[in-house]
Amino acid sequence: MPNKSQIQILNDPKFVIWDLEFPALNCHKFNGETLQTVRQQIIELLTDGEMDVRQLSREVGIKEKEVYEHLTHISRSLAARRRKINIRPSECLKCGYVFEDRKRFTRPGRCPRCRESHIINPSFKIT
Ligand SMILES: [Zn+2]
Repeated sequence: MPNKSQIQILNDPKFVIWDLEFPALNCHKFNGETLQTVRQQIIELLTDGEMDVRQLSREVGIKEKEVYEHLTHISRSLAARRRKINIRPSECLKCGYVFEDRKRFTRPGRCPRCRESHIINPSFKIT
């Protein structure tokens, strides 16, 4: 069943654009026989294991800021398939405060308890 937003280009079945919402962010990479968008790579990485934004950015080869944008979109598209991104919340390195109520993907700037800014990145896993 083809994805609705999937279109083929260059009359080549291997070259497929999967999604047109953030065309600038969809840098295509050719890995052997498969052509994956950055977003598909992120989904696969987070299905296989838990990672934070820094690791994802290094693994996929894009900026951390772009990873956040992709995560926001991925969480919406996963919801339609009854899957979701699980977030391990940020934690303060100084006092151990856990940012449990934070629903956003980005790291908080400062700890509300001790005012320190040494905060561990939240990490993600898709289930
Ligand atoms: Zn703290």
